[in-house]
Amino acid sequence: LSIEQLAEARRALDGPLFADLSGDAQVSFEFFPPKSEKMEAQLWDAIETLAPLEPRFVSVTYGAGGSTRERTHATVARIARETGLSAAAHLTCVEASKAEIAEVAEAYWAAGVRHIVALRGDPPVMGSRFVPHPEGYESAAALVAGLRRIHPFEISVAAYPECHPEAVNAASDIDNLKRKLDAGAVRAISQFFFSADAFFRFRDAAAAAGIDAEIVPGILPVSNVAQTRKFAAMCGASIPPWMDRLFEGLDDRPAARQLVAATLAAELARRLYAGGVRHFHFYTLNRAELGYAICHLLGLRPKPAARVKAA
Ligand code: FAD
Repeated sequence: LSIEQLAEARRALDGPLFADLSGDAQVSFEFFPPKSEKMEAQLWDAIETLAPLEPRFVSVTYGAGGSTRERTHATVARIARETGLSAAAHLTCVEASKAEIAEVAEAYWAAGVRHIVALRGDPPVMGSRFVPHPEGYESAAALVAGLRRIHPFEISVAAYPECHPEAVNAASDIDNLKRKLDAGAVRAISQFFFSADAFFRFRDAAAAAGIDAEIVPGILPVSNVAQTRKFAAMCGASIPPWMDRLFEGLDDRPAARQLVAATLAAELARRLYAGGVRHFHFYTLNRAELGYAICHLLGLRPKPAARVKAA
């Protein structure tokens, strides 16, 4: 490199090591419904820790095959009742008739829940093909239309920056996303990914297909590569080769793994911010400190007024 090129490269790297994104960035957090009292305590610890960061909303997942129907409802209803947070309930079409889904949706409306993350869901047996319930919805797009007929819910849907594994091709998956938005969804939340560029390419392709709704990147903080690889294989996300090397030798060092996970997720968020993203959805895995640390690295600080009443 010439001296001028070196000077140019150094100027590009100049600037503070910490960039505060809090001025215009927003976050949302995803939780899963707890299975035991111990997990319930962990979930509420996470909610109480993260609530003062004033998320735009928090959402609670729905287990495969509707297995968490009651637990998801109880968790979302409690968040709506006991915190000032905007709570969203995930809902899937798996093994449910339209009448059963209407019942679930009515119960959410009665509990004051106005936001649904509408999904097709996966079959209860891993690897088998999705077969719609004979009296149910055949796709997320049909579910969105059905929910909108029941009440004017705010509806979010799923998007896949690296293409859904069952899609014929990337263009048809984007057509499907458009169908879901045209049916009445207002935003898409993405599957996790580890390349900001993959997300930007997807966002560009969606825009070229006429999608102007917000596509919120879903960020998964990785602290266990083996587990993430299992998830990724099922949902069409790729794990970059450098990830194994990054976590090499950390199997017995959970604290070090968390530090690496927070650093990595914050770096991905920072790159996305540079590309214009202003809302980040974090898959928290119900862990308080990890999500909190990532948000802290992005400049978010707790607002005392938003503290959750002790649950
Ligand atoms: P759809 O949008 O219906 O798409 C499914 C597949 O069918 C895609 O490949 C699509 O391209 C194709 N397709 C649909 N309609 C057509 C058509 N007319 N022509 C051609 N192709 C078509 N799962 C859970 O069980 N519980 C959860 O709580 C949950 N939360 C999630 C949250 C997010 C943010 C994301 C990204 C995923 C979540 N999932 C959840 C996983 C999701 O259920 C699976 O990825 C599922 O396989 C697809 O659901 P979908 O809503 O994207 O389906």
